[in-house]
Amino acid sequence: MNIEKFQASMYELIVETSTNLPKDVRRAVKAAKEMESAGTRAAMSLATITNNIKMADDNVSPICQDTGLPTFKIKTPVGVNQIELKKAIYNAIAEATKDGKLRPNSVDSLTGENSGDNLGIGLPVVKFEQWEKDYIDARLILKGGGCENKNIQYSLPCELEGLGRAGRDLDGIRKCILHSVYQAQGQGCSAGFIGVGIGGDRSSGYDLAKEQLFRSNDDVNPHEDLRKLEEYIMENANELGIGTMGFGGETTLLGCKIGVMNRIPASFFVSVAYNCWAFRRLGVTVNAETGEINEWLYQEGDKIDFAQEAEKEAATTTETDTKVVTLQAPITEEQIRELKVGDVVRIDGRMFTGRDAIHKYLSENDAPVDLNGQIIYHCGPVMLKDKDGKWNVKAAGPTTSIREEPYQGDIMKKFGIRAVIGKGGMGPKTLAALQEHGGVYLNAIGGAAQYYADCIKSVDGVDLMQFGIPEAMWHLTVEGFTAVVTMDAHGNSLHQDVDKSSLEKLAQFKDRVF
Ligand code: SF4
Repeated sequence: MNIEKFQASMYELIVETSTNLPKDVRRAVKAAKEMESAGTRAAMSLATITNNIKMADDNVSPICQDTGLPTFKIKTPVGVNQIELKKAIYNAIAEATKDGKLRPNSVDSLTGENSGDNLGIGLPVVKFEQWEKDYIDARLILKGGGCENKNIQYSLPCELEGLGRAGRDLDGIRKCILHSVYQAQGQGCSAGFIGVGIGGDRSSGYDLAKEQLFRSNDDVNPHEDLRKLEEYIMENANELGIGTMGFGGETTLLGCKIGVMNRIPASFFVSVAYNCWAFRRLGVTVNAETGEINEWLYQEGDKIDFAQEAEKEAATTTETDTKVVTLQAPITEEQIRELKVGDVVRIDGRMFTGRDAIHKYLSENDAPVDLNGQIIYHCGPVMLKDKDGKWNVKAAGPTTSIREEPYQGDIMKKFGIRAVIGKGGMGPKTLAALQEHGGVYLNAIGGAAQYYADCIKSVDGVDLMQFGIPEAMWHLTVEGFTAVVTMDAHGNSLHQDVDKSSLEKLAQFKDRVF
């Protein structure tokens, strides 16, 4: 085996997976877009998403800034040295990180220290299997934290909100799957894909669920009962009305794949792996002697070119009456109190990034800059220094905001922050603080890392670099940065509203016959 060539092939696989969404996923996103009426928040979000996919194509840059946890599945002929292959994969991952195709995303679980190259104990995940064929099959999925955190496992029988008892049969499984879509809301960057594993134990059940995400979205399940269940879920889950980003809308689910394995009599697990719209999964076959790529996988069917789609849309789109408010920091309390849930906001000027480490730091220390009237963006960007030592933004979408719930309200009040931007919404503590202090929560489009990177016109400084690139406080100047008010200073939360209405719709499935 030419191991240098194999390493180059793996580098190509990593870059393509990170930057070029597979054909089957593009088709599903396009179909979702066609379902939404012009002028709705869902339509606007999907337009941003398709624009982002196009920009990632053009720039060969990450579709989403969250590299996620890279998982390789490799099948090798008997006799191939798997230790060498693993080393080559590690090298390719480190190289792709250095080139800004992946964000440094591997941290020490105890200290939080970022390794800087996406390597570390247990990362990336590489799973080997031997097979009888004479070539290597290598597949990769980059699954982000926002959607990974929405995975769920059910131990049957159990009681489910809205659906009552889920028993140890196909109907109980049906209820679990519908519930898994409901509980994810928009937090996993819906519309999403789910892989479901029935049976096994807690760990093999989740493995089986993730395994389903390696199936093509267009395949047909050979197991008759599971085929019917997949179709049922696809026909019905969208009735929940959660929609893209949880803004409400026609499409909540883009794909559902279900697998089954045996279990022991005492256990009955249904495990669900949720994947966001930025479903980065590709594969190649590799010549086991030369190490060169023979063939790219997941290539069936048409490839949607979203650049052409955008041109067609521009020719047919009419103006909508969505209210767009421009904000520029420092923002006053009066300006904030005028905003209402549903308003679209365009931000020009300054914002500061801040995620987990910054929020904890600010809760215990003074801020390194004056945050009065300012905007905090929940974002861990991909940054690269150019040869002149200047920082460039490679990807900069929002991260999941709910992680900052314990700190957010207090920090806003302590420093006079007027707006926070993130994705997925926040909880009651933040909502109460927004009302009391005069603040808003703005939901940006999760995964639209290229779109938002393009809005960043300059990187003017950085503080707290000791937390690593994604966690540092970056000082950004933006132009035309668009987001939706989903929590306002009047006690309203779109997230709460959509949760409530989707729970009511979920309850309608309680006694439906499958
Ligand atoms: S699209 Fe959303 S859930 Fe998916 S990787 Fe990006 S931020 Fe995470």
